[in-house]
Amino acid sequence: MKRSHGSNEYERFETEAVRHQAERGPYREHSVPLYLTSSFLFDSAEHARALFAEEAEGAIYSRYSNPNVDEFIGKLAAFEGCEDGLGTATGMAAMFASLAAFLEAGDHVVASRAIFGSTHQILTKILSRWGITHTYVDPGDNEGWERAIRPETKMLFLETPSNPGLDLVDLEHVGRLAGEHDLILNVDNCFATPYVQTPATFGAHLVTHSATKFIDGQGRVLGGALLGTAPLIEEARFFCRHTGPALSPFNAWVLSKSLETLAVRMEKHAENARLLAEHLESHPATGRVRYPFLPSHPQRELAREQMRNGGGIVTFEVEGGGDAAKRFLDSLSMISLSSNLGDTRSIATHPASTTHSKLTEEERAAVGITAGLVRISVGLEAFEDIVEDVDRALSGV
Ligand SMILES: *Cc1c(COP(=O)(O)O)cnc(C)c1O
Repeated sequence: MKRSHGSNEYERFETEAVRHQAERGPYREHSVPLYLTSSFLFDSAEHARALFAEEAEGAIYSRYSNPNVDEFIGKLAAFEGCEDGLGTATGMAAMFASLAAFLEAGDHVVASRAIFGSTHQILTKILSRWGITHTYVDPGDNEGWERAIRPETKMLFLETPSNPGLDLVDLEHVGRLAGEHDLILNVDNCFATPYVQTPATFGAHLVTHSATKFIDGQGRVLGGALLGTAPLIEEARFFCRHTGPALSPFNAWVLSKSLETLAVRMEKHAENARLLAEHLESHPATGRVRYPFLPSHPQRELAREQMRNGGGIVTFEVEGGGDAAKRFLDSLSMISLSSNLGDTRSIATHPASTTHSKLTEEERAAVGITAGLVRISVGLEAFEDIVEDVDRALSGV
Protein backbone atom coordinates (compact mmCIF):
# COMPACT_ATOMS: atom_id res chain seq x y z
CA MET A 1 0.00 0.00 0.00
CA LYS A 2 1.32 3.39 -0.93
CA ARG A 3 1.37 6.17 1.60
CA SER A 4 -0.61 9.19 0.53
CA HIS A 5 1.38 12.31 1.30
CA GLY A 6 -1.38 14.56 2.48
CA SER A 7 -3.23 14.53 -0.82
CA ASN A 8 -7.00 14.49 -1.12
CA GLU A 9 -8.75 12.91 -4.07
CA TYR A 10 -12.16 14.32 -3.17
CA GLU A 11 -12.83 17.84 -2.03
CA ARG A 12 -15.64 17.06 0.41
CA PHE A 13 -14.61 15.60 3.76
CA GLU A 14 -17.36 12.95 3.93
CA THR A 15 -16.51 11.52 0.49
CA GLU A 16 -12.75 11.57 1.06
CA ALA A 17 -13.25 9.87 4.44
CA VAL A 18 -15.13 6.97 2.88
CA ARG A 19 -13.36 6.72 -0.47
CA HIS A 20 -9.71 7.48 0.43
CA GLN A 21 -8.04 4.25 -0.63
CA ALA A 22 -4.48 3.07 -0.53
CA GLU A 23 -3.26 0.83 -3.36
CA ARG A 24 -5.11 -2.50 -3.43
CA GLY A 25 -3.40 -5.89 -3.22
CA PRO A 26 -3.76 -8.84 -5.65
CA TYR A 27 -7.18 -9.83 -4.23
CA ARG A 28 -8.70 -6.42 -5.09
CA GLU A 29 -10.09 -6.29 -1.54
CA HIS A 30 -12.84 -3.69 -1.11
CA SER A 31 -12.09 -2.90 2.53
CA VAL A 32 -8.58 -2.32 3.90
CA PRO A 33 -6.83 -5.69 4.59
CA LEU A 34 -4.99 -6.28 7.88
CA TYR A 35 -1.21 -6.85 7.82
CA LEU A 36 -0.62 -8.43 11.21
CA THR A 37 3.08 -9.14 10.84
CA SER A 38 6.04 -8.02 12.88
CA SER A 39 8.57 -8.18 10.04
CA PHE A 40 8.81 -8.38 6.23
CA LEU A 41 10.87 -10.61 3.93
CA PHE A 42 13.97 -9.46 2.07
CA ASP A 43 14.51 -10.67 -1.52
CA SER A 44 18.23 -11.13 -0.92
CA ALA A 45 21.07 -10.13 1.35
CA GLU A 46 21.70 -7.20 -0.99
CA HIS A 47 18.03 -6.12 -0.77
CA ALA A 48 18.23 -6.20 3.05
CA ARG A 49 21.36 -4.06 2.97
CA ALA A 50 19.76 -1.56 0.58
CA LEU A 51 16.60 -1.29 2.74
CA PHE A 52 18.61 -0.61 5.89
CA ALA A 53 20.81 1.89 4.02
CA GLU A 54 17.59 3.60 2.87
CA GLU A 55 18.64 3.17 -0.76
CA ALA A 56 15.53 1.06 -1.46
CA GLU A 57 11.93 1.67 -0.32
CA GLY A 58 10.07 -1.04 1.49
CA ALA A 59 8.91 -2.38 4.82
CA ILE A 60 11.49 -3.94 7.17
CA TYR A 61 9.97 -4.28 10.63
CA SER A 62 6.68 -3.03 12.09
CA ARG A 63 8.44 -0.87 14.69
CA TYR A 64 9.68 1.21 11.71
CA SER A 65 6.65 1.01 9.45
CA ASN A 66 3.65 -1.18 8.68
CA PRO A 67 1.14 -0.98 5.78
CA ASN A 68 -1.87 -0.51 8.12
CA VAL A 69 -0.18 2.21 10.12
CA ASP A 70 0.88 3.96 6.90
CA GLU A 71 -2.65 3.67 5.48
CA PHE A 72 -4.29 5.14 8.61
CA ILE A 73 -1.72 7.90 8.95
CA GLY A 74 -1.86 8.75 5.23
CA LYS A 75 -5.61 9.31 5.53
CA LEU A 76 -5.38 11.32 8.76
CA ALA A 77 -2.55 13.46 7.36
CA ALA A 78 -4.68 14.20 4.29
CA PHE A 79 -7.58 15.34 6.52
CA GLU A 80 -5.28 17.56 8.58
CA GLY A 81 -3.58 19.03 5.50
CA CYS A 82 -0.21 17.77 6.81
CA GLU A 83 2.53 16.42 4.55
CA ASP A 84 3.38 13.31 6.55
CA GLY A 85 2.92 11.59 9.90
CA LEU A 86 3.65 8.74 12.29
CA GLY A 87 1.37 6.40 14.22
CA THR A 88 1.97 5.88 17.94
CA ALA A 89 0.65 3.40 20.51
CA THR A 90 -1.18 6.08 22.53
CA GLY A 91 -1.89 9.76 22.41
CA MET A 92 0.71 10.33 25.11
CA ALA A 93 3.38 8.59 23.03
CA ALA A 94 2.59 11.10 20.26
CA MET A 95 2.73 14.04 22.71
CA PHE A 96 6.04 12.86 24.15
CA ALA A 97 7.60 12.25 20.71
CA SER A 98 6.37 15.64 19.48
CA LEU A 99 8.30 17.28 22.34
CA ALA A 100 11.32 15.03 22.93
CA ALA A 101 12.20 14.60 19.24
CA PHE A 102 12.70 18.34 18.82
CA LEU A 103 13.80 19.80 22.16
CA GLU A 104 17.23 19.76 23.79
CA ALA A 105 18.76 21.03 27.04
CA GLY A 106 18.46 24.81 27.21
CA ASP A 107 15.33 24.99 25.03
CA HIS A 108 12.15 26.65 26.27
CA VAL A 109 8.51 25.88 25.46
CA VAL A 110 5.60 28.29 25.72
CA ALA A 111 2.56 26.18 26.50
CA SER A 112 -1.09 26.80 27.16
CA ARG A 113 -1.87 26.44 30.86
CA ALA A 114 -4.90 24.35 29.91
CA ILE A 115 -3.36 21.16 28.55
CA PHE A 116 -4.04 17.48 29.17
CA GLY A 117 -2.91 16.29 32.64
CA SER A 118 -0.22 13.88 31.42
CA THR A 119 1.20 16.43 28.95
CA HIS A 120 1.50 18.80 31.90
CA GLN A 121 3.39 16.07 33.80
CA ILE A 122 5.79 15.60 30.84
CA LEU A 123 6.63 19.32 30.87
CA THR A 124 6.87 19.79 34.63
CA LYS A 125 8.32 16.45 35.82
CA ILE A 126 10.16 14.84 32.90
CA LEU A 127 11.48 17.42 30.42
CA SER A 128 12.41 19.72 33.33
CA ARG A 129 14.91 17.04 34.48
CA TRP A 130 16.60 17.31 31.08
CA GLY A 131 17.08 21.08 31.23
CA ILE A 132 14.06 21.96 29.08
CA THR A 133 12.01 24.77 30.59
CA HIS A 134 8.51 26.04 29.93
CA THR A 135 6.21 28.98 30.63
CA TYR A 136 2.46 28.59 30.87
CA VAL A 137 0.12 31.20 29.44
CA ASP A 138 -3.64 31.57 29.60
CA PRO A 139 -4.97 30.08 26.35
CA GLY A 140 -7.10 33.07 25.38
CA ASP A 141 -4.52 35.78 26.26
CA ASN A 142 -3.10 36.73 22.84
CA GLU A 143 -0.53 39.19 24.26
CA GLY A 144 0.47 36.66 26.93
CA TRP A 145 1.62 34.24 24.22
CA GLU A 146 3.92 36.88 22.72
CA ARG A 147 5.21 38.11 26.12
CA ALA A 148 6.26 34.60 27.13
CA ILE A 149 8.54 34.09 24.11
CA ARG A 150 12.27 34.23 25.01
CA PRO A 151 15.41 34.00 22.86
CA GLU A 152 15.71 30.30 23.81
CA THR A 153 12.06 29.48 23.01
CA LYS A 154 11.81 26.68 20.44
CA MET A 155 8.16 25.62 20.50
CA LEU A 156 4.58 26.74 21.18
CA PHE A 157 2.35 23.94 22.50
CA LEU A 158 -1.42 24.06 22.92
CA GLU A 159 -4.79 22.38 22.85
CA THR A 160 -7.92 24.10 21.59
CA PRO A 161 -10.58 23.65 22.83
CA SER A 162 -8.90 22.75 26.11
CA ASN A 163 -9.71 19.81 28.35
CA PRO A 164 -11.85 20.21 30.39
CA GLY A 165 -12.32 24.01 30.45
CA LEU A 166 -13.14 24.35 26.72
CA ASP A 167 -11.05 27.52 26.44
CA LEU A 168 -9.87 28.37 22.95
CA VAL A 169 -6.54 29.54 21.59
CA ASP A 170 -6.65 31.92 18.62
CA LEU A 171 -4.96 29.69 16.03
CA GLU A 172 -4.42 32.46 13.50
CA HIS A 173 -2.66 34.57 16.14
CA VAL A 174 -0.32 31.84 17.43
CA GLY A 175 0.30 30.71 13.84
CA ARG A 176 1.50 34.23 13.00
CA LEU A 177 3.64 34.38 16.17
CA ALA A 178 5.28 31.06 15.36
CA GLY A 179 6.11 32.31 11.86
CA GLU A 180 7.51 35.66 13.07
CA HIS A 181 9.68 34.09 15.80
CA ASP A 182 10.67 30.98 13.85
CA LEU A 183 9.11 28.59 16.39
CA ILE A 184 7.55 25.15 15.99
CA LEU A 185 3.79 25.40 16.56
CA ASN A 186 2.54 22.09 18.03
CA VAL A 187 -1.24 21.62 18.42
CA ASP A 188 -2.98 18.70 20.18
CA ASN A 189 -6.11 18.50 18.01
CA CYS A 190 -7.73 15.65 19.94
CA PHE A 191 -10.87 17.49 21.10
CA ALA A 192 -11.78 18.96 17.73
CA THR A 193 -10.59 16.29 15.23
CA PRO A 194 -9.77 17.36 11.65
CA TYR A 195 -13.47 17.34 10.77
CA VAL A 196 -14.02 20.30 13.09
CA GLN A 197 -10.71 22.18 12.80
CA THR A 198 -7.39 21.91 10.94
CA PRO A 199 -4.57 23.72 12.81
CA ALA A 200 -2.09 23.25 9.92
CA THR A 201 -4.16 25.69 7.83
CA PHE A 202 -3.34 28.31 10.51
CA GLY A 203 0.38 27.54 10.42
CA ALA A 204 0.79 24.63 12.87
CA HIS A 205 3.93 22.63 12.00
CA LEU A 206 2.96 19.65 14.17
CA VAL A 207 -0.54 18.32 14.85
CA THR A 208 -0.84 15.65 17.53
CA HIS A 209 -3.70 13.30 18.37
CA SER A 210 -4.96 10.89 20.90
CA ALA A 211 -6.73 8.64 18.36
CA THR A 212 -8.21 6.84 21.36
CA LYS A 213 -10.91 9.49 21.63
CA PHE A 214 -13.13 10.73 18.77
CA ILE A 215 -10.99 9.16 16.03
CA ASP A 216 -11.72 5.62 17.26
CA GLY A 217 -15.00 6.99 18.49
CA GLN A 218 -16.16 3.66 19.87
CA GLY A 219 -14.00 3.21 22.97
CA ARG A 220 -12.10 0.16 21.67
CA VAL A 221 -8.42 0.85 21.07
CA LEU A 222 -5.61 3.15 22.16
CA GLY A 223 -3.71 5.02 19.51
CA GLY A 224 -2.00 8.28 18.69
CA ALA A 225 -0.68 10.26 15.76
CA LEU A 226 2.03 12.81 15.14
CA LEU A 227 1.50 14.71 11.89
CA GLY A 228 3.31 17.63 10.37
CA THR A 229 5.63 19.02 7.74
CA ALA A 230 7.81 16.49 5.90
CA PRO A 231 11.16 17.67 7.40
CA LEU A 232 9.86 17.63 10.99
CA ILE A 233 8.27 14.20 10.57
CA GLU A 234 11.55 12.92 9.12
CA GLU A 235 13.27 13.98 12.39
CA ALA A 236 10.49 12.44 14.47
CA ARG A 237 10.71 9.23 12.42
CA PHE A 238 14.33 8.78 13.54
CA PHE A 239 13.26 9.37 17.17
CA CYS A 240 10.35 6.92 16.98
CA ARG A 241 12.25 4.23 15.05
CA HIS A 242 14.80 4.02 17.85
CA THR A 243 12.61 4.65 20.90
CA GLY A 244 9.73 2.39 19.77
CA PRO A 245 6.33 3.99 20.46
CA ALA A 246 4.91 2.22 17.35
CA LEU A 247 1.15 1.87 16.78
CA SER A 248 -0.11 -1.72 16.54
CA PRO A 249 -1.21 -2.66 12.97
CA PHE A 250 -4.47 -4.03 14.36
CA ASN A 251 -5.28 -0.76 16.12
CA ALA A 252 -4.35 1.18 12.97
CA TRP A 253 -6.77 -0.97 10.96
CA VAL A 254 -9.56 -0.30 13.50
CA LEU A 255 -8.79 3.43 13.52
CA SER A 256 -8.72 3.64 9.72
CA LYS A 257 -12.25 2.20 9.52
CA SER A 258 -13.32 4.67 12.19
CA LEU A 259 -12.16 7.62 10.09
CA GLU A 260 -14.77 6.65 7.47
CA THR A 261 -17.54 7.65 9.88
CA LEU A 262 -15.79 10.60 11.59
CA ALA A 263 -17.88 13.26 9.83
CA VAL A 264 -21.30 11.79 10.64
CA ARG A 265 -20.26 11.02 14.20
CA MET A 266 -18.87 14.51 14.84
CA GLU A 267 -22.05 16.11 13.44
CA LYS A 268 -24.24 14.09 15.81
CA HIS A 269 -21.89 14.50 18.82
CA ALA A 270 -21.95 18.26 18.27
CA GLU A 271 -25.71 18.44 17.83
CA ASN A 272 -26.36 16.48 21.02
CA ALA A 273 -23.71 18.48 22.90
CA ARG A 274 -25.10 21.87 21.80
CA LEU A 275 -28.65 20.87 22.77
CA LEU A 276 -27.44 19.57 26.16
CA ALA A 277 -25.40 22.75 26.83
CA GLU A 278 -28.42 24.94 26.04
CA HIS A 279 -30.61 22.83 28.30
CA LEU A 280 -28.11 22.86 31.19
CA GLU A 281 -27.70 26.62 30.96
CA SER A 282 -31.36 27.12 31.79
CA HIS A 283 -31.36 24.51 34.59
CA PRO A 284 -31.63 25.86 38.17
CA ALA A 285 -29.24 23.22 39.62
CA THR A 286 -26.28 24.22 37.42
CA GLY A 287 -23.79 27.09 37.53
CA ARG A 288 -21.57 28.05 34.63
CA VAL A 289 -21.95 25.92 31.50
CA ARG A 290 -19.18 25.80 28.90
CA TYR A 291 -19.56 24.88 25.22
CA PRO A 292 -17.70 26.68 22.41
CA PHE A 293 -20.83 27.39 20.34
CA LEU A 294 -22.97 28.67 23.25
CA PRO A 295 -23.76 32.40 22.91
CA SER A 296 -22.47 32.81 26.52
CA HIS A 297 -18.99 31.43 25.70
CA PRO A 298 -16.57 34.37 25.91
CA GLN A 299 -14.79 33.22 22.73
CA ARG A 300 -17.87 32.20 20.72
CA GLU A 301 -16.85 34.33 17.73
CA LEU A 302 -13.38 32.84 17.61
CA ALA A 303 -15.03 29.40 17.90
CA ARG A 304 -17.12 30.13 14.82
CA GLU A 305 -14.09 31.38 12.90
CA GLN A 306 -11.85 28.38 13.49
CA MET A 307 -14.24 25.50 14.20
CA ARG A 308 -16.90 23.89 11.98
CA ASN A 309 -18.99 23.03 15.06
CA GLY A 310 -18.56 23.10 18.84
CA GLY A 311 -17.43 19.47 19.22
CA GLY A 312 -18.81 16.82 21.54
CA ILE A 313 -17.75 17.93 25.04
CA VAL A 314 -19.79 20.00 27.51
CA THR A 315 -18.63 21.04 30.98
CA PHE A 316 -20.71 22.56 33.73
CA GLU A 317 -20.74 23.34 37.43
CA VAL A 318 -23.17 21.52 39.67
CA GLU A 319 -24.55 23.97 42.25
CA GLY A 320 -23.34 22.88 45.67
CA GLY A 321 -19.71 22.02 44.81
CA GLY A 322 -17.86 18.70 45.06
CA ASP A 323 -20.39 16.79 47.12
CA ALA A 324 -23.23 17.80 44.82
CA ALA A 325 -21.14 16.82 41.77
CA LYS A 326 -20.52 13.36 43.32
CA ARG A 327 -24.24 12.93 44.06
CA PHE A 328 -25.01 13.92 40.44
CA LEU A 329 -22.54 11.35 39.06
CA ASP A 330 -23.79 8.60 41.37
CA SER A 331 -27.41 9.29 40.34
CA LEU A 332 -26.84 8.84 36.59
CA SER A 333 -28.34 5.63 35.30
CA MET A 334 -27.56 5.51 31.58
CA ILE A 335 -24.57 7.84 31.16
CA SER A 336 -21.35 5.94 31.98
CA LEU A 337 -18.87 6.95 34.66
CA SER A 338 -15.51 6.57 32.95
CA SER A 339 -12.41 8.61 32.15
CA ASN A 340 -12.55 8.17 28.37
CA LEU A 341 -14.18 10.59 25.95
CA GLY A 342 -15.25 10.65 22.32
CA ASP A 343 -17.12 7.34 22.61
CA THR A 344 -20.53 6.59 21.05
CA ARG A 345 -21.69 6.26 24.69
CA SER A 346 -22.12 9.39 26.76
CA ILE A 347 -19.56 9.53 29.57
CA ALA A 348 -19.50 11.74 32.67
CA THR A 349 -16.22 12.56 34.44
CA HIS A 350 -15.23 14.54 37.54
CA PRO A 351 -11.92 16.13 36.42
CA ALA A 352 -10.81 17.46 39.86
CA SER A 353 -10.71 14.00 41.46
CA THR A 354 -9.69 11.92 38.42
CA THR A 355 -8.05 13.15 35.18
CA HIS A 356 -6.65 16.33 36.77
CA SER A 357 -6.12 15.05 40.35
CA LYS A 358 -2.30 15.14 39.93
CA LEU A 359 -2.38 18.93 39.50
CA THR A 360 -2.03 21.09 42.59
CA GLU A 361 -5.07 22.95 43.91
CA GLU A 362 -3.65 26.24 42.51
CA GLU A 363 -2.95 24.69 39.10
CA ARG A 364 -6.53 23.42 38.93
CA ALA A 365 -7.92 26.79 39.98
CA ALA A 366 -5.88 28.54 37.27
CA VAL A 367 -7.64 26.52 34.56
CA GLY A 368 -11.10 26.68 36.13
CA ILE A 369 -11.28 23.09 37.41
CA THR A 370 -13.43 23.48 40.50
CA ALA A 371 -14.74 20.72 42.78
CA GLY A 372 -18.22 21.09 41.28
CA LEU A 373 -17.10 20.79 37.65
CA VAL A 374 -18.44 17.87 35.60
CA ARG A 375 -17.38 17.00 32.05
CA ILE A 376 -19.76 15.17 29.76
CA SER A 377 -18.55 13.60 26.57
CA VAL A 378 -21.87 13.64 24.79
CA GLY A 379 -22.50 10.42 22.90
CA LEU A 380 -24.69 9.31 20.03
CA GLU A 381 -27.72 8.12 22.03
CA ALA A 382 -31.07 9.82 21.32
CA PHE A 383 -30.88 13.33 22.79
CA GLU A 384 -34.13 12.75 24.72
CA ASP A 385 -32.56 9.86 26.65
CA ILE A 386 -29.39 11.82 27.46
CA VAL A 387 -31.29 14.82 28.78
CA GLU A 388 -33.72 12.64 30.74
CA ASP A 389 -30.81 10.95 32.56
CA VAL A 390 -29.10 14.28 33.28
CA ASP A 391 -32.31 15.87 34.57
CA ARG A 392 -33.14 12.93 36.81
CA ALA A 393 -29.62 13.00 38.32
CA LEU A 394 -29.71 16.80 38.77
CA SER A 395 -33.05 16.60 40.58
CA GLY A 396 -31.34 14.59 43.35
CA VAL A 397 -28.39 16.92 44.08
C1 LIG B 1 -6.70 11.52 26.12
C2 LIG B 1 -5.91 12.67 25.69
C3 LIG B 1 -4.52 12.55 25.51
C4 LIG B 1 -3.79 11.26 25.80
O1 LIG B 1 -4.15 10.25 24.93
P1 LIG B 1 -4.02 8.67 25.27
O2 LIG B 1 -4.45 8.01 24.00
O3 LIG B 1 -4.90 8.40 26.44
O4 LIG B 1 -2.58 8.41 25.60
C5 LIG B 1 -3.84 13.67 25.09
N1 LIG B 1 -4.46 14.84 24.87
C6 LIG B 1 -5.78 14.99 25.05
C7 LIG B 1 -6.40 16.31 24.79
C8 LIG B 1 -6.56 13.92 25.47
O5 LIG B 1 -7.87 14.08 25.67
